[in-house]
Amino acid sequence: MPSLLIRHATLLVAMDDADSRWPDGGLYVEDNVIRQVGPTGELPGQADCVIDARDMVILPGLVNTHHHFYQTLTRNLPAAQDATLFRWLRTHYPLWARLTPEAIYVSSKVAMAELMLSGCTTSSDHTYIWPNGARIDDQIQAAREMGLRFHAARGSMSVGESQGGLPPDSMVEDEDAILRDSRRAIEQYHDAARCAMLRIVLAPCSPFSVSRDLMRHSVELARSYGVHAHTHLAETRDEQAYCLQTLGRTPVELAEELGWVGRDVWHAHMVHPAPGEITRLGQTGTGVAHCPSSNMRLASGIAPVRLLRQAGARVGLGVDGSASNDGSHLLAEARQALLVARVGGDSAAMSAREALWLATRGGATVLGRDDIGYLAPGMAADFIGYRLDTLPLAGGAVHDPVAALVFCQPSPVDLSVINGRVRVQGRKLVDVDLPALIAHHNALARALVSGDR
Ligand SMILES: [Zn+2]
Repeated sequence: MPSLLIRHATLLVAMDDADSRWPDGGLYVEDNVIRQVGPTGELPGQADCVIDARDMVILPGLVNTHHHFYQTLTRNLPAAQDATLFRWLRTHYPLWARLTPEAIYVSSKVAMAELMLSGCTTSSDHTYIWPNGARIDDQIQAAREMGLRFHAARGSMSVGESQGGLPPDSMVEDEDAILRDSRRAIEQYHDAARCAMLRIVLAPCSPFSVSRDLMRHSVELARSYGVHAHTHLAETRDEQAYCLQTLGRTPVELAEELGWVGRDVWHAHMVHPAPGEITRLGQTGTGVAHCPSSNMRLASGIAPVRLLRQAGARVGLGVDGSASNDGSHLLAEARQALLVARVGGDSAAMSAREALWLATRGGATVLGRDDIGYLAPGMAADFIGYRLDTLPLAGGAVHDPVAALVFCQPSPVDLSVINGRVRVQGRKLVDVDLPALIAHHNALARALVSGDR
Protein backbone atom coordinates (compact mmCIF):
# COMPACT_ATOMS: atom_id res chain seq x y z
CA MET A 1 0.00 0.00 0.00
CA PRO A 2 1.90 3.12 -1.18
CA SER A 3 2.03 6.03 1.26
CA LEU A 4 2.34 9.76 0.68
CA LEU A 5 3.34 12.43 3.19
CA ILE A 6 2.78 16.16 2.68
CA ARG A 7 4.55 18.19 5.36
CA HIS A 8 5.45 21.70 6.46
CA ALA A 9 2.64 23.46 4.56
CA THR A 10 2.58 27.11 5.65
CA LEU A 11 -1.10 26.55 6.27
CA LEU A 12 -3.37 23.56 5.81
CA VAL A 13 -7.07 24.41 5.48
CA ALA A 14 -9.35 21.40 5.96
CA MET A 15 -12.66 23.09 4.99
CA ASP A 16 -14.31 20.79 7.55
CA ASP A 17 -17.26 21.81 9.71
CA ALA A 18 -14.91 23.13 12.41
CA ASP A 19 -12.96 25.15 9.81
CA SER A 20 -9.75 23.48 11.04
CA ARG A 21 -6.54 25.20 9.97
CA TRP A 22 -3.02 24.08 10.85
CA PRO A 23 0.13 26.18 10.45
CA ASP A 24 3.06 23.91 9.54
CA GLY A 25 0.39 21.39 8.57
CA GLY A 26 0.40 18.20 6.59
CA LEU A 27 -1.36 15.06 5.48
CA TYR A 28 -0.57 11.38 5.54
CA VAL A 29 -2.12 9.23 2.80
CA GLU A 30 -2.18 5.48 2.31
CA ASP A 31 -3.16 4.29 -1.13
CA ASN A 32 -5.97 6.68 -2.16
CA VAL A 33 -7.34 7.64 1.28
CA ILE A 34 -6.30 10.30 3.81
CA ARG A 35 -5.26 8.65 7.10
CA GLN A 36 -4.12 11.68 9.11
CA VAL A 37 -4.38 15.48 8.86
CA GLY A 38 -2.82 17.99 11.24
CA PRO A 39 0.44 19.57 12.43
CA THR A 40 3.48 18.12 10.68
CA GLY A 41 4.99 17.16 14.04
CA GLU A 42 2.12 14.77 14.76
CA LEU A 43 2.29 12.93 11.41
CA PRO A 44 4.43 9.88 10.56
CA GLY A 45 8.00 10.87 9.72
CA GLN A 46 8.37 8.64 6.66
CA ALA A 47 6.41 7.60 3.59
CA ASP A 48 7.07 6.15 0.16
CA CYS A 49 6.73 9.67 -1.26
CA VAL A 50 7.40 12.80 0.80
CA ILE A 51 6.56 16.31 -0.47
CA ASP A 52 7.66 19.46 1.28
CA ALA A 53 4.86 22.05 1.07
CA ARG A 54 6.77 24.98 2.58
CA ASP A 55 5.40 28.32 1.33
CA MET A 56 2.16 26.66 0.24
CA VAL A 57 -1.42 26.69 1.42
CA ILE A 58 -3.00 23.23 1.13
CA LEU A 59 -6.73 22.89 0.50
CA PRO A 60 -9.16 20.16 -0.55
CA GLY A 61 -9.34 19.81 -4.34
CA LEU A 62 -11.89 22.00 -6.10
CA VAL A 63 -15.04 20.44 -7.56
CA ASN A 64 -16.54 21.56 -10.89
CA THR A 65 -20.23 20.78 -11.30
CA HIS A 66 -20.95 21.92 -14.87
CA HIS A 67 -18.94 21.95 -18.07
CA HIS A 68 -19.04 21.11 -21.78
CA PHE A 69 -15.49 20.00 -22.46
CA TYR A 70 -15.89 19.89 -26.25
CA GLN A 71 -16.47 23.64 -26.35
CA THR A 72 -12.75 24.30 -25.87
CA LEU A 73 -12.68 23.82 -29.66
CA THR A 74 -14.98 26.82 -30.23
CA ARG A 75 -13.91 29.34 -27.62
CA ASN A 76 -14.22 32.96 -28.51
CA LEU A 77 -15.86 32.30 -31.86
CA PRO A 78 -16.15 35.76 -33.51
CA ALA A 79 -19.73 35.19 -34.72
CA ALA A 80 -20.88 34.34 -31.18
CA GLN A 81 -18.87 36.80 -29.13
CA ASP A 82 -21.75 39.20 -28.58
CA ALA A 83 -24.75 36.84 -28.66
CA THR A 84 -27.22 35.83 -25.97
CA LEU A 85 -27.90 32.13 -25.41
CA PHE A 86 -30.29 31.15 -28.21
CA ARG A 87 -28.36 32.95 -30.98
CA TRP A 88 -25.10 31.76 -29.42
CA LEU A 89 -26.36 28.15 -29.62
CA ARG A 90 -27.63 28.51 -33.19
CA THR A 91 -24.24 29.89 -34.23
CA HIS A 92 -22.40 26.95 -32.68
CA TYR A 93 -24.69 24.03 -33.59
CA PRO A 94 -23.46 23.59 -37.21
CA LEU A 95 -19.85 23.51 -36.02
CA TRP A 96 -20.53 21.07 -33.20
CA ALA A 97 -22.31 18.81 -35.72
CA ARG A 98 -18.83 18.10 -37.13
CA LEU A 99 -17.41 16.79 -33.83
CA THR A 100 -15.66 13.43 -34.07
CA PRO A 101 -14.60 10.86 -31.46
CA GLU A 102 -11.07 12.26 -31.75
CA ALA A 103 -12.31 15.83 -31.22
CA ILE A 104 -14.31 14.80 -28.13
CA TYR A 105 -11.31 12.92 -26.71
CA VAL A 106 -8.73 15.66 -27.34
CA SER A 107 -10.95 18.57 -26.27
CA SER A 108 -11.84 16.67 -23.08
CA LYS A 109 -8.16 16.31 -22.30
CA VAL A 110 -7.56 20.02 -22.88
CA ALA A 111 -10.46 21.04 -20.65
CA MET A 112 -9.32 18.61 -17.96
CA ALA A 113 -5.75 19.92 -18.15
CA GLU A 114 -6.93 23.46 -17.66
CA LEU A 115 -9.22 22.48 -14.80
CA MET A 116 -6.49 20.47 -13.07
CA LEU A 117 -3.95 23.29 -13.35
CA SER A 118 -6.48 25.61 -11.69
CA GLY A 119 -6.94 23.31 -8.68
CA CYS A 120 -9.86 21.18 -9.80
CA THR A 121 -9.66 17.51 -8.81
CA THR A 122 -13.23 16.40 -9.64
CA SER A 123 -15.35 17.50 -12.56
CA SER A 124 -18.62 16.69 -14.18
CA ASP A 125 -19.06 17.15 -17.91
CA HIS A 126 -22.31 17.53 -19.81
CA THR A 127 -21.89 16.63 -23.47
CA TYR A 128 -25.22 16.46 -25.29
CA ILE A 129 -24.09 16.13 -28.92
CA TRP A 130 -22.74 12.78 -30.11
CA PRO A 131 -22.27 13.07 -33.88
CA ASN A 132 -20.15 10.97 -36.20
CA GLY A 133 -19.71 8.05 -33.84
CA ALA A 134 -18.64 10.06 -30.77
CA ARG A 135 -19.45 8.35 -27.46
CA ILE A 136 -19.11 9.04 -23.77
CA ASP A 137 -16.41 6.37 -23.82
CA ASP A 138 -14.13 8.89 -25.59
CA GLN A 139 -14.33 11.21 -22.58
CA ILE A 140 -13.94 8.40 -20.08
CA GLN A 141 -10.72 7.33 -21.76
CA ALA A 142 -9.48 10.94 -21.53
CA ALA A 143 -10.34 11.17 -17.81
CA ARG A 144 -8.54 7.91 -17.07
CA GLU A 145 -5.43 9.10 -18.85
CA MET A 146 -5.49 12.49 -17.12
CA GLY A 147 -6.26 11.03 -13.68
CA LEU A 148 -9.19 13.38 -13.00
CA ARG A 149 -12.12 12.24 -10.84
CA PHE A 150 -15.00 12.34 -13.31
CA HIS A 151 -18.80 12.47 -13.28
CA ALA A 152 -19.64 11.84 -16.94
CA ALA A 153 -23.08 13.18 -17.76
CA ARG A 154 -24.56 11.40 -20.77
CA GLY A 155 -26.32 14.38 -22.33
CA SER A 156 -28.89 14.30 -25.10
CA MET A 157 -31.07 16.32 -27.46
CA SER A 158 -34.17 14.85 -29.11
CA VAL A 159 -36.41 17.73 -30.28
CA GLY A 160 -35.21 19.47 -33.43
CA GLU A 161 -36.43 22.60 -35.17
CA SER A 162 -39.22 20.87 -37.09
CA GLN A 163 -40.72 19.75 -33.75
CA GLY A 164 -40.41 23.22 -32.21
CA GLY A 165 -37.01 22.75 -30.59
CA LEU A 166 -33.93 24.92 -30.99
CA PRO A 167 -31.30 22.55 -32.49
CA PRO A 168 -31.25 21.50 -36.17
CA ASP A 169 -33.06 18.21 -36.82
CA SER A 170 -29.81 16.64 -37.98
CA MET A 171 -28.31 17.01 -34.50
CA VAL A 172 -30.93 15.30 -32.38
CA GLU A 173 -30.98 11.63 -31.42
CA ASP A 174 -33.77 9.09 -31.33
CA GLU A 175 -35.15 8.85 -27.77
CA ASP A 176 -35.02 5.05 -27.59
CA ALA A 177 -31.40 5.15 -28.71
CA ILE A 178 -30.60 7.79 -26.04
CA LEU A 179 -32.10 5.67 -23.28
CA ARG A 180 -30.41 2.51 -24.57
CA ASP A 181 -27.02 4.17 -24.61
CA SER A 182 -27.67 5.75 -21.19
CA ARG A 183 -28.37 2.32 -19.74
CA ARG A 184 -25.27 0.91 -21.42
CA ALA A 185 -23.08 3.71 -19.99
CA ILE A 186 -24.40 3.12 -16.47
CA GLU A 187 -23.98 -0.64 -16.61
CA GLN A 188 -20.54 -0.45 -18.19
CA TYR A 189 -19.01 2.39 -16.18
CA HIS A 190 -20.94 3.67 -13.14
CA ASP A 191 -19.06 3.08 -9.90
CA ALA A 192 -21.16 3.70 -6.77
CA ALA A 193 -18.32 2.73 -4.40
CA ARG A 194 -16.73 5.18 -1.98
CA CYS A 195 -13.82 7.09 -3.57
CA ALA A 196 -15.04 6.15 -7.06
CA MET A 197 -13.11 7.84 -9.85
CA LEU A 198 -15.96 7.53 -12.33
CA ARG A 199 -19.70 7.98 -12.05
CA ILE A 200 -22.33 8.29 -14.76
CA VAL A 201 -25.04 10.95 -14.77
CA LEU A 202 -28.06 11.19 -17.11
CA ALA A 203 -28.46 14.66 -18.58
CA PRO A 204 -31.05 15.67 -21.20
CA CYS A 205 -29.87 19.07 -22.40
CA SER A 206 -32.65 21.59 -21.74
CA PRO A 207 -36.42 22.12 -21.95
CA PHE A 208 -36.03 23.54 -25.48
CA SER A 209 -34.13 20.58 -26.92
CA VAL A 210 -35.70 17.44 -25.40
CA SER A 211 -39.24 16.16 -24.92
CA ARG A 212 -41.14 15.89 -21.67
CA ASP A 213 -41.11 12.11 -22.16
CA LEU A 214 -37.33 12.01 -22.42
CA MET A 215 -36.97 14.17 -19.30
CA ARG A 216 -39.27 11.87 -17.35
CA HIS A 217 -37.80 8.62 -18.66
CA SER A 218 -34.24 9.81 -18.11
CA VAL A 219 -34.75 10.68 -14.46
CA GLU A 220 -36.68 7.46 -13.88
CA LEU A 221 -33.90 5.43 -15.48
CA ALA A 222 -31.28 7.28 -13.42
CA ARG A 223 -33.21 6.63 -10.20
CA SER A 224 -33.63 2.96 -10.97
CA TYR A 225 -29.82 2.68 -10.86
CA GLY A 226 -29.18 5.18 -8.04
CA VAL A 227 -27.57 7.50 -10.57
CA HIS A 228 -27.93 11.29 -10.47
CA ALA A 229 -29.63 13.46 -13.11
CA HIS A 230 -28.59 16.85 -14.47
CA THR A 231 -29.86 19.45 -16.93
CA HIS A 232 -29.84 23.17 -17.75
CA LEU A 233 -32.72 25.03 -16.15
CA ALA A 234 -33.98 28.61 -15.74
CA GLU A 235 -30.89 30.00 -17.44
CA THR A 236 -32.39 32.87 -19.46
CA ARG A 237 -35.55 34.91 -19.90
CA ASP A 238 -35.80 33.49 -23.45
CA GLU A 239 -36.02 29.99 -21.95
CA GLN A 240 -38.68 31.16 -19.52
CA ALA A 241 -40.72 32.60 -22.42
CA TYR A 242 -40.25 29.40 -24.47
CA CYS A 243 -41.47 27.23 -21.60
CA LEU A 244 -44.48 29.41 -20.88
CA GLN A 245 -45.50 29.62 -24.55
CA THR A 246 -44.75 26.05 -25.61
CA LEU A 247 -45.33 24.07 -22.42
CA GLY A 248 -47.58 26.37 -20.39
CA ARG A 249 -45.36 26.39 -17.31
CA THR A 250 -42.15 27.90 -16.03
CA PRO A 251 -38.92 25.88 -16.28
CA VAL A 252 -39.03 25.07 -12.55
CA GLU A 253 -42.71 24.08 -12.70
CA LEU A 254 -41.85 21.79 -15.61
CA ALA A 255 -39.01 20.22 -13.63
CA GLU A 256 -41.28 19.64 -10.64
CA GLU A 257 -43.97 18.06 -12.79
CA LEU A 258 -41.47 15.67 -14.40
CA GLY A 259 -39.76 14.56 -11.19
CA TRP A 260 -36.67 16.70 -11.70
CA VAL A 261 -36.27 17.89 -8.11
CA GLY A 262 -34.60 16.24 -5.13
CA ARG A 263 -31.23 15.32 -3.73
CA ASP A 264 -30.29 13.25 -6.79
CA VAL A 265 -30.87 16.09 -9.26
CA TRP A 266 -28.90 19.24 -10.02
CA HIS A 267 -29.62 22.03 -12.47
CA ALA A 268 -27.09 24.27 -14.20
CA HIS A 269 -27.62 28.05 -13.88
CA MET A 270 -30.97 28.59 -12.08
CA VAL A 271 -30.75 32.31 -12.80
CA HIS A 272 -34.49 33.00 -13.00
CA PRO A 273 -36.49 31.03 -10.42
CA ALA A 274 -39.55 32.74 -8.90
CA PRO A 275 -39.46 33.35 -5.11
CA GLY A 276 -41.86 30.48 -4.40
CA GLU A 277 -39.80 28.23 -6.65
CA ILE A 278 -36.64 29.02 -4.67
CA THR A 279 -38.44 27.86 -1.53
CA ARG A 280 -39.53 24.61 -3.15
CA LEU A 281 -36.08 23.93 -4.65
CA GLY A 282 -34.69 24.36 -1.15
CA GLN A 283 -37.28 22.15 0.51
CA THR A 284 -36.48 19.33 -1.91
CA GLY A 285 -32.71 19.76 -1.50
CA THR A 286 -32.33 20.18 -5.26
CA GLY A 287 -28.83 20.99 -6.50
CA VAL A 288 -27.68 24.02 -8.49
CA ALA A 289 -24.49 24.56 -10.50
CA HIS A 290 -23.77 28.28 -10.23
CA CYS A 291 -21.92 29.46 -13.36
CA PRO A 292 -21.26 33.18 -12.84
CA SER A 293 -18.82 33.78 -15.72
CA SER A 294 -21.10 32.20 -18.30
CA ASN A 295 -24.14 34.02 -16.94
CA MET A 296 -22.31 37.33 -17.27
CA ARG A 297 -20.77 36.50 -20.65
CA LEU A 298 -24.14 35.62 -22.21
CA ALA A 299 -25.96 38.43 -20.36
CA SER A 300 -28.23 35.82 -18.77
CA GLY A 301 -28.43 37.49 -15.37
CA ILE A 302 -27.34 36.81 -11.78
CA ALA A 303 -28.42 33.63 -10.01
CA PRO A 304 -29.93 34.17 -6.54
CA VAL A 305 -27.27 32.07 -4.84
CA ARG A 306 -27.73 33.37 -1.33
CA LEU A 307 -31.51 32.88 -1.42
CA LEU A 308 -31.14 29.38 -2.87
CA ARG A 309 -28.66 28.40 -0.16
CA GLN A 310 -30.78 29.93 2.60
CA ALA A 311 -33.76 27.96 1.30
CA GLY A 312 -31.79 24.70 1.56
CA ALA A 313 -30.76 24.10 -2.04
CA ARG A 314 -27.35 22.51 -2.59
CA VAL A 315 -25.14 24.95 -4.53
CA GLY A 316 -21.74 24.41 -6.14
CA LEU A 317 -19.73 26.13 -8.86
CA GLY A 318 -19.46 25.38 -12.56
CA VAL A 319 -17.17 26.98 -15.11
CA ASP A 320 -19.76 26.01 -17.77
CA GLY A 321 -18.72 25.20 -21.31
CA SER A 322 -15.54 26.70 -22.63
CA ALA A 323 -17.35 28.61 -25.38
CA SER A 324 -19.25 30.76 -22.88
CA ASN A 325 -16.64 31.45 -20.19
CA ASP A 326 -14.16 31.13 -22.11
CA GLY A 327 -11.96 29.24 -19.72
CA SER A 328 -11.89 26.41 -17.22
CA HIS A 329 -10.18 28.07 -14.24
CA LEU A 330 -12.20 26.96 -11.26
CA LEU A 331 -10.45 29.20 -8.72
CA ALA A 332 -11.21 32.13 -11.05
CA GLU A 333 -14.84 31.02 -11.00
CA ALA A 334 -14.86 31.24 -7.19
CA ARG A 335 -13.60 34.81 -7.54
CA GLN A 336 -16.33 35.59 -10.08
CA ALA A 337 -18.93 34.14 -7.70
CA LEU A 338 -17.76 36.47 -4.96
CA LEU A 339 -17.66 39.54 -7.20
CA VAL A 340 -21.01 39.02 -8.90
CA ALA A 341 -22.68 38.35 -5.54
CA ARG A 342 -21.62 41.84 -4.47
CA VAL A 343 -22.40 43.77 -7.62
CA GLY A 344 -25.96 44.46 -6.53
CA GLY A 345 -24.73 46.62 -3.65
CA ASP A 346 -24.14 44.29 -0.69
CA SER A 347 -20.44 43.92 0.18
CA ALA A 348 -21.35 41.16 2.64
CA ALA A 349 -23.26 39.10 0.05
CA MET A 350 -20.44 36.55 -0.19
CA SER A 351 -17.16 36.15 1.69
CA ALA A 352 -13.96 34.56 0.36
CA ARG A 353 -14.54 31.65 2.72
CA GLU A 354 -18.05 31.14 1.25
CA ALA A 355 -16.68 31.27 -2.30
CA LEU A 356 -14.12 28.58 -1.46
CA TRP A 357 -16.81 26.59 0.33
CA LEU A 358 -18.92 26.61 -2.87
CA ALA A 359 -15.86 25.46 -4.85
CA THR A 360 -15.18 22.53 -2.50
CA ARG A 361 -17.90 21.39 -0.08
CA GLY A 362 -20.71 22.86 -2.15
CA GLY A 363 -19.59 21.10 -5.30
CA ALA A 364 -19.12 17.79 -3.52
CA THR A 365 -22.65 18.01 -2.12
CA VAL A 366 -24.10 18.90 -5.52
CA LEU A 367 -22.49 15.80 -7.03
CA GLY A 368 -23.82 13.71 -4.14
CA ARG A 369 -20.42 12.88 -2.65
CA ASP A 370 -19.48 12.55 1.00
CA ASP A 371 -15.90 11.40 0.29
CA ILE A 372 -14.50 14.60 -1.24
CA GLY A 373 -14.75 18.34 -0.51
CA TYR A 374 -12.86 18.50 2.81
CA LEU A 375 -9.74 17.03 4.35
CA ALA A 376 -10.17 14.47 7.13
CA PRO A 377 -9.18 10.87 7.88
CA GLY A 378 -11.18 8.50 5.69
CA MET A 379 -11.74 11.02 2.89
CA ALA A 380 -10.45 10.49 -0.64
CA ALA A 381 -6.93 11.86 -1.07
CA ASP A 382 -7.79 14.84 -3.29
CA PHE A 383 -5.94 18.01 -2.29
CA ILE A 384 -4.14 20.95 -3.82
CA GLY A 385 -1.43 23.44 -2.93
CA TYR A 386 -0.94 27.01 -4.07
CA ARG A 387 2.40 28.74 -3.54
CA LEU A 388 2.10 31.89 -1.48
CA ASP A 389 5.32 33.60 -2.61
CA THR A 390 4.06 34.46 -6.10
CA LEU A 391 3.56 37.80 -7.83
CA PRO A 392 -0.27 37.74 -7.81
CA LEU A 393 -0.29 37.04 -4.06
CA ALA A 394 2.51 39.45 -3.12
CA GLY A 395 1.31 41.64 -0.28
CA GLY A 396 -1.96 39.72 -0.08
CA ALA A 397 -1.15 36.25 1.21
CA VAL A 398 0.90 37.70 4.07
CA HIS A 399 -2.27 39.09 5.62
CA ASP A 400 -4.69 36.24 4.91
CA PRO A 401 -3.37 33.41 2.73
CA VAL A 402 -6.77 31.79 2.26
CA ALA A 403 -8.83 34.84 1.28
CA ALA A 404 -5.93 36.00 -0.93
CA LEU A 405 -6.64 33.04 -3.24
CA VAL A 406 -10.04 34.56 -4.01
CA PHE A 407 -9.37 38.30 -3.75
CA CYS A 408 -6.08 38.40 -5.67
CA GLN A 409 -5.64 37.35 -9.29
CA PRO A 410 -6.29 33.59 -9.57
CA SER A 411 -3.11 31.55 -9.47
CA PRO A 412 -2.34 28.23 -11.12
CA VAL A 413 -2.04 25.37 -8.69
CA ASP A 414 1.45 24.21 -7.74
CA LEU A 415 0.56 20.79 -6.38
CA SER A 416 -2.44 18.58 -7.05
CA VAL A 417 -3.00 15.10 -5.70
CA ILE A 418 -6.02 13.18 -6.99
CA ASN A 419 -6.99 9.85 -5.47
CA GLY A 420 -3.55 9.65 -3.84
CA ARG A 421 -1.64 10.24 -7.10
CA VAL A 422 0.42 13.37 -7.71
CA ARG A 423 -1.03 14.86 -10.89
CA VAL A 424 0.42 18.39 -10.79
CA GLN A 425 3.79 19.29 -9.32
CA GLY A 426 5.73 22.52 -9.79
CA ARG A 427 2.80 23.91 -11.83
CA LYS A 428 3.19 21.11 -14.39
CA LEU A 429 0.92 18.19 -15.18
CA VAL A 430 2.69 14.93 -14.49
CA ASP A 431 2.98 12.63 -17.54
CA VAL A 432 1.21 15.02 -19.95
CA ASP A 433 2.89 16.53 -23.00
CA LEU A 434 0.91 19.76 -22.85
CA PRO A 435 2.41 21.55 -25.90
CA ALA A 436 1.68 18.53 -28.09
CA LEU A 437 -1.85 18.27 -26.71
CA ILE A 438 -2.53 21.95 -27.38
CA ALA A 439 -1.12 21.74 -30.92
CA HIS A 440 -3.31 18.71 -31.68
CA HIS A 441 -6.35 20.47 -30.20
CA ASN A 442 -5.77 23.68 -32.16
CA ALA A 443 -5.46 21.75 -35.42
CA LEU A 444 -8.81 20.10 -34.66
CA ALA A 445 -10.36 23.46 -33.76
CA ARG A 446 -9.26 25.01 -37.06
CA ALA A 447 -10.56 22.01 -39.00
CA LEU A 448 -13.89 22.14 -37.17
CA VAL A 449 -14.50 25.74 -38.20
CA SER A 450 -13.22 25.35 -41.76
CA GLY A 451 -15.23 22.15 -42.24
CA ASP A 452 -12.07 20.35 -43.25
CA ARG A 453 -11.96 17.44 -40.84
ZN1 LIG B 1 -24.05 24.51 -19.81
